Amino acid sequence: MQILDGKALAQNIENAIQQEVQILNKRNVTPGLAVILVGNDPASQSYVNMKAKACKRTGIYSITHEMPENIQQESLLQTIAMLNQNPNIDGILVQLPLPKHINTTAVLEAIAPQKDVDGFHPFNMGRIFANLDGFIPATPLGVITLLKHYNVSLQGKNVVIVGASNIVGKPLSALFLNENATVTLCHIYTQNLAKHTKEADILCVAVGKPNLITKEMIKEGAIVVDIGINKLSDGRIVGDVDFSNVSTQCSFITPVPGGVGPMTIASLLQNTLKAAKLRTKKY
Ligand code: NAD
Repeated sequence: MQILDGKALAQNIENAIQQEVQILNKRNVTPGLAVILVGNDPASQSYVNMKAKACKRTGIYSITHEMPENIQQESLLQTIAMLNQNPNIDGILVQLPLPKHINTTAVLEAIAPQKDVDGFHPFNMGRIFANLDGFIPATPLGVITLLKHYNVSLQGKNVVIVGASNIVGKPLSALFLNENATVTLCHIYTQNLAKHTKEADILCVAVGKPNLITKEMIKEGAIVVDIGINKLSDGRIVGDVDFSNVSTQCSFITPVPGGVGPMTIASLLQNTLKAAKLRTKKY
């Protein structure tokens, strides 16, 4: 069994981004990311902090707009409209989830598609499904980048994804399809989950339930990508896969933490750099 070391690869990607940012700086261009954080959810705050720190490490300018939980949707939309017009901002990211009184779709659709570095705007989502260039959501992009780095061939493979959210499972399914894999997308209403997971050459799990995937659900030699992030009552962070037992059965596996998480941050930085290059048309 080999570990898919997302932490190490993310570090390499960050180093490469830092060098590219320095080249852009010489042309008086600094990539800029604006993050909007609504409310006081500790997990969201921690993700936003991690993104801001990663920007700082690589020389990307970042600004966080913190807004109260009871913010009116109109104010949020006005902030996005302002950022859409701001020439120093290449990427706009609204940290999800948003409070219930806010229409998430309306907010995501308000972001200019060329600044949509999270790739959640239906414009970019549609381009992914049509296998056209655009902004790919950071977590699915990180998963594919990690697998390719370890020379995992995707063509013709049986890929099973557990979890079908708009931000992870669905776009990830399109990316695998674009790589000519055969994709099964499972969710909470899937009957006999184990029947599907046992068929997987590559199993990706993004649900948010510790130990959902056990050793008995894995084919010998499978590649397992654990996207889940769960905080246990003792403070430990674990994924959705029973790592200690599943790792004895598979050929490759991502750890949590240190797998997909750092790759997600690195992919967001890649998208921001891409947006800055598109803005300045300097490839
Ligand atoms: P979500 O709640 O939006 O979606 C969960 C999905 O899992 C749904 O499609 C649901 O139908 C499915 N599901 C729920 N229970 C199931 C079950 N028992 N069997 C099969 N499917 C089931 O969640 P999300 O935003 O996609 O996040 C999923 C997990 O991934 C969370 O733990 C989240 O923290 C993590 N995540 C990690 C990263 C990262 O960078 N590593 C990024 C995004 C999300």
